[in-house]
Amino acid sequence: DRSLAEVDPDVHAAVTAELGRQRRTLEMIASENFAPRAVLEAQGSVLTNKYAEGYPGRRYYGGCEHVDVIEQLAIDRLTALFGAEFANVQPHSGAQANAAAMAALLEPGDTILGLDLAHGGHLTHGMRLNFSGRLYDVAAYHVRADDHRIDMAEVERLARERRPKMIIAGWSAYPRHLDFAQFRRIADEVGAYLMVDMAHFAGLVAAGLHPSPVPYADVVTSTTHKTLGGPRGGVIMARAGLAKKLNSTVFPGQQGGPLEHVIAAKAVAFKLAAEPAFAERGRRTLEGAQLIASRLLGEPGVGVVSGGTDVHLVLVDLRDSELDGKQAEDRLHRVGITVNRNAVPFDPRPPMVSSGVRIGTPALAARGFGAEAFAEVADVIARALRPAAAQTELDELAARVTALADRHPLYPEL
Ligand code: PLP
Repeated sequence: DRSLAEVDPDVHAAVTAELGRQRRTLEMIASENFAPRAVLEAQGSVLTNKYAEGYPGRRYYGGCEHVDVIEQLAIDRLTALFGAEFANVQPHSGAQANAAAMAALLEPGDTILGLDLAHGGHLTHGMRLNFSGRLYDVAAYHVRADDHRIDMAEVERLARERRPKMIIAGWSAYPRHLDFAQFRRIADEVGAYLMVDMAHFAGLVAAGLHPSPVPYADVVTSTTHKTLGGPRGGVIMARAGLAKKLNSTVFPGQQGGPLEHVIAAKAVAFKLAAEPAFAERGRRTLEGAQLIASRLLGEPGVGVVSGGTDVHLVLVDLRDSELDGKQAEDRLHRVGITVNRNAVPFDPRPPMVSSGVRIGTPALAARGFGAEAFAEVADVIARALRPAAAQTELDELAARVTALADRHPLYPEL
């Protein structure tokens, strides 16, 4: 059979160029990571050929004896990793996991209460154009203006006023731990389900470096490709009592055939996430984020949302800088560091420009970066974000980025 390079030189060339980009630049998009080779192998396997509607032992197709083994391994490893009673590993993505969890527990028109997108929430937590904003009645809570921490008094007030059927705790751009016990207490007071979307911090929970939402939430959803370091995909965990409802909502409610090649890659990632090396990588991830936050706090005109970080990301606050979020993103791109611009809470600039950048450390930690390398990265970022930085200075910073990338080879076996 012919290889990709033979069949399709155009796609092959773009894939090869993307590998080159990943190797040459410093990937600091907080939601990205580098899946280990074993994960890539599982995902690129012949499992892509298999239909397996249903669940292990209860399929609507023949020939599922091997994919049953794989999906059951994924389920068992995931429940063990997080101490959950039930898991569904079939959601194709984090958005699909959230859609299924909401469809299982809510009726269209029910009220949900989630963190405002502009304050760090996710599209699926009630954004107007998303399924969540179209299907459900949305109430949104915020962070406080003074310390950028979630305003739990507002959560409580909105819960009493709006009587949501589900409270959603979780974020895409928030640098602090959530108070799961408080969320649980408020949910109980108003008779709401508590759903925690731990997409961003799941890997830190697995590593024992972040409080676990599992003992508090009715349902926990996650992606598997962010701090967890696996293939792109989603999962749902819950108490055993919700198992039937959640399973039937994922299939046949929301999806058809599960992606067993991705599920195999999830199983591999869950195995790796239980190993000591994963926790060690998590510690470097957190240390890197803290080094970047403290270095940036020393720069005039640059702030850090909430004054620091407890997690794998730093939200840089450029409201007092001449550089806006778009310009900062372009500056960092120019020196070889990939980030995304991001609104900060109470952002005066429009969302397409914004006054912040979100900087994450998981991908560089996966590449082997430790304290010394992260301190160097922090210095490069701080200098690149100086509004007056000259072209020659940016060239020097780009050379430092290249040296850092060269010292930490990525996918040497590919
Ligand atoms: N939930 C949160 C908190 C996220 O940050 C994201 C991704 O950015 C998602 C869900 C959606 O995941 P996906 O992009 O896999 O649909």
